[in-house]
Amino acid sequence: MHFFDYKGKNFYAEGVSVERIVKEVGTPVYIYSKKTLTRHFQAYDQAFAAVPHLICYSIKANSNLAVLKTFAQEGSGFDIVSGGELFRAKKAGADTRKIVFSGVGKREDEIEFALKSNILMFNVESPQEMRAIDKIAKRLRKKAGVSIRVNPNVDPKTHPYISTGLKKNKFGIETEDAFREYVYAKRSLKNVVPMGIDCHIGSQITQITPFIDALKKTTDLLARLRAEGLDIKYIDMGGGLGITYDKEEPPHPSKYGEAVIRGTKGLGVTLIFEPGRSMVGNAGILATKVVYTKKGSEKNFVIVDAAMNDLARPSLYGSYHAIKAVKANSKAEITADVVGPICESGDFLAKDRLIPEVKAGDALAVMSAGAYGFSMSSNYNTRPRAAEVMVNGKEFSVVRKREVLSDLIRGEQAAPARKAPKAGRKGAK
Ligand SMILES: *Cc1c(COP(=O)(O)O)cnc(C)c1O
Repeated sequence: MHFFDYKGKNFYAEGVSVERIVKEVGTPVYIYSKKTLTRHFQAYDQAFAAVPHLICYSIKANSNLAVLKTFAQEGSGFDIVSGGELFRAKKAGADTRKIVFSGVGKREDEIEFALKSNILMFNVESPQEMRAIDKIAKRLRKKAGVSIRVNPNVDPKTHPYISTGLKKNKFGIETEDAFREYVYAKRSLKNVVPMGIDCHIGSQITQITPFIDALKKTTDLLARLRAEGLDIKYIDMGGGLGITYDKEEPPHPSKYGEAVIRGTKGLGVTLIFEPGRSMVGNAGILATKVVYTKKGSEKNFVIVDAAMNDLARPSLYGSYHAIKAVKANSKAEITADVVGPICESGDFLAKDRLIPEVKAGDALAVMSAGAYGFSMSSNYNTRPRAAEVMVNGKEFSVVRKREVLSDLIRGEQAAPARKAPKAGRKGAK
């Protein structure tokens, strides 16, 4: 569900025409709908209203401060995967007691920052990390709440790059090893407090079964840990619920909620969820302008001013994004590759796609670009990163300025020239 649609021939983000935003802000531009963001948060919150729960929006999907602030104001917690994301969360006014910290390679400075910020807990992904957290917490005279991210060996049936809960993946600790690590942590590590079990099996998952299979393994482990005297209060199901890019039919959070509530009945736990994509994916579009059109002997090309540096998903995963005309003037359609200006054949937004016939200067809307869009963007080919806009009803504001040329070389300088050797000393050869 989202609030992007045509009014007559004009494509709108809530009550603002995309054409107006494009005129005032330029292209490429990411456009987010605030109403869609709050609706998605509330859909999750309501799905678990019957049980103690905490929604921790996964910042990496879209880390713009205005997006984070919108969720923080709804009462959302946050799932972070770096010190940088913690910095953002705090700037957005997050309640740090609702922050969980995931990721396989947390550095010492990041762990220290998180401990000093009094986050709720760390999702620990290796025995070495557990010892590092214990050591740093001891130095800071703190107790660190921890969950172990368990690798349940469940196939989420999604793209291999975004499957994370299989034994061959780098994430988490396998169940038996996790059991031993929990017991060891309780007995021997004085500055970590095991309080949850965490499990995140992948992304863009469109069925409930993989989640429920993972949940079953988690609750089995919970029972064994409680029998060992561990006070496990939280089950963190991670994120991963898919969205509709094309024809996918992912379960609604309410259906997912019913299944999880059934699977955890009577356990007396607080449920944690770390949704990213399903909160922001369909709440954002990328508007771009046609620069040229070109006809090859085999293909039509529509060359636009957004590229793989702005939206990497098609190049990276071969993913589908629907493409709409910002002004639906023409009924005629063409089959074309929609490509960017970057010097890579992998730089495309759509391949062999039936789209409305367009000409240079026309604007297009690349749909479902709110998740892993701007947050994965780069300056490749020394392209300034796009502007970001948030629409709220009939108003909009620029929530991140388009980068300018000076931003592109910020912090760079020529290496200093080699100093001439001083007289009387052994100089460099
Ligand atoms: C990426 C990630 C998420 C969010 O995943 P989505 O598929 O965007 O919901 C949640 N938890 C962890 C640990 C992640 O790495």
